[in-house]
Amino acid sequence: MSETVFSKIIRGELPSFRVYEDEKVLAFLDIHPVSRGHTLVIPKNTETRNIFDIPAEDWLAVTRVVHTLARAIEKAVDADGVNIMMNNRETAGQVVDHPHIHIIPRFKGDGLTLWKHGTYKESEAIDVQEKIRRSLTE
Ligand code: 5GP
Repeated sequence: MSETVFSKIIRGELPSFRVYEDEKVLAFLDIHPVSRGHTLVIPKNTETRNIFDIPAEDWLAVTRVVHTLARAIEKAVDADGVNIMMNNRETAGQVVDHPHIHIIPRFKGDGLTLWKHGTYKESEAIDVQEKIRRSLTE
């Protein structure tokens, strides 16, 4: 069981601004929004922490809601796009140990920057490609 602040939000023990809810999924406004309309979409299953242990059934339910909400949120806040993000494990920036997908509305000229991109030498790309393909079958 992964008891987090989101477990309390699911149970209604902490307040939140809910924008969508069904049997398996809850979506609510992020308390510290990156932009207006920044929303978190989470499974109600509290036995899971991140992408690595979420059951496929919960993942599919969450992503189906993200697919619908992205459009609704963009329209609602009159945004010019959205970023869909998920941090998994501490090193990747995950703070709350309950799976959550961020929907972050973007506005022309908002100045938010994403990651810096690098380059591969061809041999490096081949090496990584092979490792990932092998890992899929292990
Ligand atoms: P992470 O860094 O784990 O991907 O994101 C966690 C997110 O949860 C952060 O954006 C943070 O603002 C949000 N958050 C943390 N505690 C609360 C809370 O009590 N209520 C709400 N609505 N959002 C929270």
